[in-house]
Amino acid sequence: MVRCECGYGIIWVMRTQPLMRRRDFLFAFTAATVAGISPAAVRAAVPSSTQRVLWLRRAGTSDEIAVPFCIDGRTVYYPGYNAICWLMRDRHVAAAEGYVRIDIVEIEALWEVQQALALQGVRRPLIITSGFRSVQTNLATENAARNSMHCYGKAADMYVDGISTRDLFDACWSRAVSGGIGYYDSHVHLDSASRRWWVGDLAVPVFDPALANIRGDSVVNA
Ligand SMILES: [Zn+2]
Repeated sequence: MVRCECGYGIIWVMRTQPLMRRRDFLFAFTAATVAGISPAAVRAAVPSSTQRVLWLRRAGTSDEIAVPFCIDGRTVYYPGYNAICWLMRDRHVAAAEGYVRIDIVEIEALWEVQQALALQGVRRPLIITSGFRSVQTNLATENAARNSMHCYGKAADMYVDGISTRDLFDACWSRAVSGGIGYYDSHVHLDSASRRWWVGDLAVPVFDPALANIRGDSVVNA
């Protein structure tokens, strides 16, 4: 079972999908194999209530896809979903280890950011610098958190050509649902864990009710 959080609520769907329609297959195949500007890539920037197309490029490679991960507004569309997971794999290890299922909520988050940018007239791919990370790759990554969401397939580091990381950060922050957002000089980190944000290595303190009580008591005692 896979949870798909779409605009129409939370829906549980079976992994086994009905036979794909030929038209859908041709569309996904074409979208996944044609690099650069394609009809599907253009469609990625057009808000749709049912079909959700994500346009991604992998930094430092020629890999580029614009594929739907949802075509009915309710369930995961696996040809597109799998292509996204492949693009976001850990490229430093064997495919058997680096190609994992990326959290569908994270993919939804990336799509929402792309839609937010499209509403501002930015119709370009999200360029992924890091997706899933195996434990060994994470250990070798400078300044990476030991328990990084990248290791769970719940995070992406990215930038977009032509816009500042500050503008990309703002687009991420404009999302209504939760998620962690990290702001760096060269990229923005977006994950599907709890809502929080940080700048570079400077973590923003989390409000701790227990600590607040202690402070309150000390004020009373004073
Ligand atoms: Zn990251």
